[in-house]
Amino acid sequence: MEGRKAPVIVIGGGASGILAAITVKSRGIPVVICERMSRLGRKILASGNGRCNLSNDKLDSSHYNSASKRLVDSVFNKFGKNDIIRFFESHGLKIYSEEGRVFPVTNQSSTVLKILEMEFARLSIPVEYDFQVSKVTEIKAGFVVLSASGRKVAGGAVILACGGRSYPALGSDGNAYDIAKAFGHTIIGPVPSAVPLVVKDELCHDLQGQKIGVRIKSLICGKVASESSGDLLFTKYGLSGTAILDISREISVAINRDKLRDAAVSIDMTPFMSEAELVSELSKRLRAGVPAEDLIAGILPNKFGPAMKELLRVKDAKLIAKTLKDKRFKVLGTRGWNEADFTAGGVNSSEVDADHLASLIVRGLYFAGEILDVDGKRGGYNLAWAWASGHVAGIGAATCVK
Ligand SMILES: Cc1cc2nc3c(=O)[nH]c(=O)nc-3n(C[C@H](O)[C@H](O)[C@H](O)COP(=O)(O)OP(=O)(O)OC[C@H]3O[C@@H](n4cnc5c(N)ncnc54)[C@H](O)[C@@H]3O)c2cc1C
Repeated sequence: MEGRKAPVIVIGGGASGILAAITVKSRGIPVVICERMSRLGRKILASGNGRCNLSNDKLDSSHYNSASKRLVDSVFNKFGKNDIIRFFESHGLKIYSEEGRVFPVTNQSSTVLKILEMEFARLSIPVEYDFQVSKVTEIKAGFVVLSASGRKVAGGAVILACGGRSYPALGSDGNAYDIAKAFGHTIIGPVPSAVPLVVKDELCHDLQGQKIGVRIKSLICGKVASESSGDLLFTKYGLSGTAILDISREISVAINRDKLRDAAVSIDMTPFMSEAELVSELSKRLRAGVPAEDLIAGILPNKFGPAMKELLRVKDAKLIAKTLKDKRFKVLGTRGWNEADFTAGGVNSSEVDADHLASLIVRGLYFAGEILDVDGKRGGYNLAWAWASGHVAGIGAATCVK
């Protein structure tokens, strides 16, 4: 057969594929990466607003959703938060923590990628760039990996590390779910996570661009599904900001996967004041004859008074306070894949061996990273999963071909 041969083939050169390849080659086993883009790690460069929040000091499986918590536990038992830090530090990356979130001291994701590229060069790991894998065929001696343009690579084990569906311009668009499906794996419906929400409410229109600190709850069929605190950003289509991204997963699963229509958010717009304090403050202002539009001046940004004038004109301190502490927005949908930081869903992790991330269906096939139905909270958990699962799948594939 023409084309390259290597005992282990890694499909996808993102965070998980890079770690997998380094792990395999460090064990003395030749490996090749097939990457559809013309460079590695595009998503690493975009991560953390260009700062790359690469892990979290509180790393453990409680911060993840997956069909198999056991699998997530098993991976972090093999390559946990200290191993991730040790890996990067031993390759020369200086790092620091900010409220538990781990960053390179340079605050530049390109530094993280540079360190990984240097290790690739040191280990002489070959990369087949612009290699869009379209088909993986099982043969007697392993697998043949075919590109859309007819290129071929053959090997004994394959690690599928093609990412999820978010930010398709960076390379991962969910095309590789079909490769997993062709081998008999099932896919748990991928939906955008860490994604802004679509809301039809005049307040969003009137307050677009305004950001406030809030406490927030997601409500699915009237029941609290998730809670968070952080920034709320009003946009012309609805709601964004860190607090929204944090609770968006449950809403996205309900609307996009389970096709439920009863989803809402409850927002405490004044988390720094209790309802009783707010009632007392508003009553004082009402008694002093403060005009309706100025009633919440100094409590919320200036634009909120005019935008909430209908409520404020009621001049009922209790009703105003209740609304500000529990402002409801019905959620009509989520924004799309171009605005979602990660994917909830993917290859069903209960079909994957928890020890080495090997397929329980096809011998020699491994999975790593966001392609699996494992998604973590914001705060470095998704890259941590990519590094750790890449390392563990790398050990599995290296052992398989020995
Ligand atoms: C804007 C943004 C910011 C983020 N910030 C953070 C952060 O700060 N901290 C954090 O923990 N997480 C962050 N995430 C999430 C995190 O970056 C991802 O979860 C992680 O990079 C996933 O790594 P991966 O290797 O599984 O997939 P990817 O990084 O998506 O890599 C998959 C690779 O496979 C390639 N590929 C796909 N299909 C094929 C094919 N058929 N043939 C060949 N190659 C293929 C793709 O081109 C890509 O290079 C962020 C995500 C986004 C979009």
